[in-house]
Amino acid sequence: MPETRGQPMCQLCDQRRTVLLLIDLSAYADRPGADQEFADIVGLALSASLPAGQHSSTCSGETGC
Ligand SMILES: [Zn+2]
Repeated sequence: MPETRGQPMCQLCDQRRTVLLLIDLSAYADRPGADQEFADIVGLALSASLPAGQHSSTCSGETGC
């Protein structure tokens, strides 16, 4: 996973971000003319990258990292 600028997110916040990306992706896939193959591949990759993690000890949790 590419890191955003600044601190890397803890696993749970990274998971939350990945879920948001999946939601965006499904919205894209519903659009007319969307590349379904692209959407499938990216969706699979995102799903596979979902960590089953915990917030790091430095993460505030509610507001994220
Ligand atoms: Zn976190």
